[in-house]
Amino acid sequence: MLLDLKEILERLEKLYEIGIYNIPFYQNKIGDKSTFSSYEKFLTLPFSYKQEIRDSSVFDRTSTKISDIYGIFSSGGTTGNKTYYVFNKNDKHVHETFIKTFFTEMGVNDSDLGGVFAPVDTGIMAHTMMWQFTTMVIGYINCPIPTPENIMAYISSLPITIIATRPSVVTAAVTDTRMATIAQTSNVRILALGGGILTEKRRKFLEEKWGAECYNLLGMSEVFGPLACECKEKNGLHYLSEYLFVEIIDPATKIPVPDGCIGVPVYTTLWDKGFPLLRYWSNDLAYIDFSPCKCGSNNPRIYVLGRLDDCYIISNRYVLPKDIEEVLFTYEFYGEFFIITNDNKIELYVESDKKEIDLNLIDKLTNMFEKKVEIIVVPPSSLHYDGHAKRIITKDEFESLGLNL
Ligand SMILES: [Zn+2]
Repeated sequence: MLLDLKEILERLEKLYEIGIYNIPFYQNKIGDKSTFSSYEKFLTLPFSYKQEIRDSSVFDRTSTKISDIYGIFSSGGTTGNKTYYVFNKNDKHVHETFIKTFFTEMGVNDSDLGGVFAPVDTGIMAHTMMWQFTTMVIGYINCPIPTPENIMAYISSLPITIIATRPSVVTAAVTDTRMATIAQTSNVRILALGGGILTEKRRKFLEEKWGAECYNLLGMSEVFGPLACECKEKNGLHYLSEYLFVEIIDPATKIPVPDGCIGVPVYTTLWDKGFPLLRYWSNDLAYIDFSPCKCGSNNPRIYVLGRLDDCYIISNRYVLPKDIEEVLFTYEFYGEFFIITNDNKIELYVESDKKEIDLNLIDKLTNMFEKKVEIIVVPPSSLHYDGHAKRIITKDEFESLGLNL
C-alpha cells in the first residue's frame, strides 16, 4: 500500500495522540499535534541524530511498558559505551510483515534450510537474521564464528539452502579454489546479504562462485533488518512505505531533494514502535525510485550508495567505497580495504594473496581520486575490518586502529 503525504501525516497524528512521542527524547522537538497538520509544518520538526541517541538513556526514548518489551539490543560498544534499543511486540509483528513480503518474493519456501553466519552478540543483526527463518517457519542453524573453514564445514555437512550474513563473509569463504568448489557443489541457492553495501561486481563474483542468487538487504539498529530488500529484478531495494516514510535530504541545504536525486535518507516510522523515529538522519547517501518496478510491486526502491562520513569529495563529486570496490574486484582484489587520505597522495591497503599489481588499476584509481594512489597489499584477514568502520580515513585514524601490518 502506497500512502500519500496526507495519509502519512494522519498516521503520525494518530501516533502522537496515543502518546508515543510523549517521551523525554522528543520533549523539545515536537510542539503540539499541529506539527502533523501539513508537510510544511512537518518540515519544521528538527532532525534526530545518532549522537542524540548515544547521549540519551534507552528509557528516555520509549514509552513501552516492560510487559510489552520483546527484546533489548545494543549497538557500538567497542569503546565501552553501548547504545541500547527497546524492541516492542509491535516491532516484532511489523518485522514479520517485512520478512514475509521480502522472503516470499525471493522464493523462500518450506523446503529451505537456513544458515546464519554472524556473531550472536547484543546487536540486533544476528537476531533478526534468525527471526527471518522462524518467521518463514523454516529451520536454521547458527554459526557464530563465521570463518571460511567453519562455513565450509557447515555447508558440506548440512543441506543449507539460504545463507544470511554480510557480503564480505561469503566472499572470504570462496577466494580459495578448494572452498569455492565446496560452495559450488553445496545446496546453497540464496545468499541474503546485509550489513554492507553489495556492489554489482561483488554480486556477480558471489553468484558465479556460489552458484546461488545473491540479494542485497538493508537494515539499521534503530529500526531492524531488513527494512528494505531487493526483489528478483535486483534493481534497488523495496521498502514497505506503509510503515516507513523516507525523505531524501540535501546534506548542504537540509531541504528535501527532487525525486530521484541523491541525498541523505531521513527516516520516520509509521507504527507504534518501541523507539519511534521522527526525521532520523541516517547519514547515508541514497536516492529513491518511486516508479513501479518490473516485479509488480509499487513499493518504492531505495539505492543506498554509502555513508556521508565515509566518502571523498572532489568538487561536488563523491568517491565512495563502493566505487573503489567495483574497481578492485575488476582486478581480482576481493579482500577488505582501507583508503588513507593524505595531503599529496592516497594510500590503499587491500588484503590479498596477489603479488602483482596491474598498472591499469593504479591508473583507474588515480583518475578516480585525481591524486596519486599507492596500493599496499597486505595478507588476508590482516585488516580486521568489522563491517561498520569507515573505509576512507586519515593516517591518524588508520594508526589508531592499531593494525600491526
Ligand atoms: Zn521489484
